[in-house]
Amino acid sequence: MTGGTDATNIILLGPPGAGKGTQASRLVESRGMVQLSTGDILRAAVKAGTEVGKLADEIMKAGKLFPDELMAEILGEHLDGIPLDKGVIFDGYPRTEKQAELLDSLLGTRGRKLGYVIELVVDEDALVDRITGRFTCAQCGEGYHDRYKPTKLTGVCDKCGSTEFKRRPDDNEETVRTRMAEYRAKTAPILPIYAARGLVRHVDGMAEMDVVTAAIAAILDGATAEPAKQA
Ligand code: AMP
Repeated sequence: MTGGTDATNIILLGPPGAGKGTQASRLVESRGMVQLSTGDILRAAVKAGTEVGKLADEIMKAGKLFPDELMAEILGEHLDGIPLDKGVIFDGYPRTEKQAELLDSLLGTRGRKLGYVIELVVDEDALVDRITGRFTCAQCGEGYHDRYKPTKLTGVCDKCGSTEFKRRPDDNEETVRTRMAEYRAKTAPILPIYAARGLVRHVDGMAEMDVVTAAIAAILDGATAEPAKQA
């Protein structure tokens, strides 16, 4: 077969802390899609202590971006492991115009097509608050927040009962501000490229998590079209 696949591949776009990871895992559960988070891939490399991981560690701690070409190579390897009939959610990729170009060829050579680019629209100051309070269970990965989603029982994971938690080292205010500046300078400018292709849909990322999930589902089910913008 040379005609590719009909599985819907999407990009979740939005500044750090916009809820891309949470929404992506919900899509994995509800639709059997596969989440490809470049941040998670790099964090796994850091943990494994590989050469890529050593480089990634320095860059991530500074809130800077990992080199485009190397990122694409790593992403391609992960894409190769995903069956063609599974839709992919790109979470944290692409982040630069160059990466957007590279993604076109990563997808094209594998017979995949981009269905939607969903932008989670958020308020940056509120996001800093959201990010600097977040933590996850070290055992099962369940996400929490100091103020907005604390564990029901102090120090005990609601889901698996573990008492071990972790925080990302780059979730401090200074790094978060740098990551947001990177988003504004390098990632936001790729939206017009996809808008010109009619792929962009906007979702209010400050809404309740379930409302955001429902809005994304409506887009994937083709129930909402983006209103045409005035020229
Ligand atoms: P995230 O988990 O998506 O917030 O990513 C955490 C960090 O990983 C970023 O601040 C970057 O340093 C690095 N990173 C993740 N995805 C990319 C990417 N697509 N290109 C370059 N660097 C990335």
